[in-house]
Amino acid sequence: MQTISDDIVVAIDGPSGSGKSSTSRGVAARLGLRYLDTGAMYRAMTWWMLREGVDVHDPEAVAARVGEPEILSGTDPLGPSIVVEGVDVGLAIRSADVNAAVSPVSAVPQVRARLLELQRDTIGAGGIVVEGRDIGSVVAPFAQVKVYLTADPAARAQRRAAEEGGSDVDATRESLLARDSIDASRDASPLTMAEGAVHLDTTAYTLDEVIDQVVALVEAVETTA
Ligand code: C5P
Repeated sequence: MQTISDDIVVAIDGPSGSGKSSTSRGVAARLGLRYLDTGAMYRAMTWWMLREGVDVHDPEAVAARVGEPEILSGTDPLGPSIVVEGVDVGLAIRSADVNAAVSPVSAVPQVRARLLELQRDTIGAGGIVVEGRDIGSVVAPFAQVKVYLTADPAARAQRRAAEEGGSDVDATRESLLARDSIDASRDASPLTMAEGAVHLDTTAYTLDEVIDQVVALVEAVETTA
């Protein structure tokens, strides 16, 4: 196997259920890199706002509290973790309440500014795979490899419902399409394919095949560097 440079940053963006998390973790594990799930950070901020009783549909109310929660992301791809104020919220951030509130919270510019800072701190000098919506465009435009993953909505809903332990596929599809629509139309850092990103439609591929393709992109960059 090729040795990968210590400073590599692999940015993986795309809508919900496109296979970002499994692909990003698989690529990081295969290449011995760290892994950061920025969606989990937005979910963690949303979980905390809901716990505090903040009206998540009032951007000013959200902005006023944004500096308060301590959010820590563990970056082991084999066991990523997310801890808010000392509470492990790995499961709680996948609840229907958080699903419904995360896109409005993520559209608040002050939320994005706070989490951008934490994300850049974690990226540090690199050696990491980072997944989200705005990684190649805003968080790490300097990433050596940028990938934009998509898949048919039906495939995305099926994967996400399975990840959530067998949730109703139709309800999951509605929920992820609603998030996509807010994420792609917001003013602050909308979901977009970054300049220089490689578009991979994962619908017809297995997870291992997608991981192979992304690993090949990283190795190609390393060979030409
Ligand atoms: O990736 P995941 O589905 O967990 O992301 C949850 C939500 O977090 C997205 O629907 C989006 O609103 C927000 N998000 C974002 N920017 C990122 C990652 C996630 O706005 N970089």
